[in-house]
Amino acid sequence: MSAVELYQNAIFDTINMGIFVVDHEETILMWNGWLAKHARISPEQAIGKPITETFSKTPSAAFMAALRNTLQYGLPAVLSNALHRAPLALYGVDDDIAEHLPIHQSITITALNTPDGSRCALIQITDSSTSIKREKMLRSHSETLKKDATTDMLTGLYNRRFFDEHYKMAIGQAIRQKLPMTIFMVDIDYFKQYNDYYGHPAGDKVLYAVAHTLKSQLARSSDMIARYGGEEFIMVLPNMPAENGMQFAEKLIQAISALNLPHLKSKAAKHITVSIGLSTYDPSRHREVTALIDAADTALYKAKQQGRNRASFLALDTLISHRVGATID
Ligand code: GH3
Ligand code: MG
Ligand code: MG
Repeated sequence: MSAVELYQNAIFDTINMGIFVVDHEETILMWNGWLAKHARISPEQAIGKPITETFSKTPSAAFMAALRNTLQYGLPAVLSNALHRAPLALYGVDDDIAEHLPIHQSITITALNTPDGSRCALIQITDSSTSIKREKMLRSHSETLKKDATTDMLTGLYNRRFFDEHYKMAIGQAIRQKLPMTIFMVDIDYFKQYNDYYGHPAGDKVLYAVAHTLKSQLARSSDMIARYGGEEFIMVLPNMPAENGMQFAEKLIQAISALNLPHLKSKAAKHITVSIGLSTYDPSRHREVTALIDAADTALYKAKQQGRNRASFLALDTLISHRVGATID
């Protein structure tokens, strides 16, 4: 054997993929080291045997059909892992065959034309289990990262950053669909006093409870809530006209009161309450939408001034005209 042939043999047995050759009668002619390990069948046991009797389980029908196609017509075939997980009985090196499922395989079958004119098939197999595992891990990792970037850690609601993106989209949609949209700024009353008296960890629990109670009041998948700041939440309800806004705000206030979370230092009630400012953008009435958040914020300030534990609505055009007046002055 020449030096080159020696190298070729060594490579054949060391390469990290399965390689075997079958002749036109489906008899195994060559069988490499990778297959010996993963099929648990030595070259001596495999060579000279029909392929259908070599593996511990008969190859899949799809594999045999592809192989016969190659042997008969010389057509190459690829059995992708997505469609054919494990056409051949091949296992991980450390696995106990009896207990384990075969490894995921990517297989190509290529025709080899021999000098005597007969046709053989070269079968190449790679183990796709590890790449699949790695891909799954990367995917779940990137999903976690994405979630972290859009989620507020304490409440599990969307964060301000996500809100800003979503808000732009929601406005665009309201304009396109010509539907009114109402936004709600919700702020916990006397929350500083709550923290001071009950402690910060207790305050965190209240934030969580309020966040989830508000969220539970949303009925449509297009409705959204985000944590806007410390103890402040913002809710966007597409297709909600001004007439329905106050009613919904009252429902939110009731739901928070019904939690009955004691707050002895509140001047608004004996339990945790919220104040709400709301405003509506109606594309059929308003030319401008930029002041919508300001309008809800101003309305919230009014609700606080009027005694808290209540909602206040401010029409978007009121604020716009105020502003115009202010600039003229
Ligand atoms: P008002 O009724 O006018 O809204 O009064 P307030 O005390 O609720 O408002 P203020 O803005 O004075 O205080 C807000 C408090 O919210 C202060 C801050 O300690 C608390 N807070 C903000 N973020 C968090 C948080 O993540 N956890 C806890 N426990 N408290 C927070
Ligand atoms: Mg507050
Ligand atoms: Mg606040």
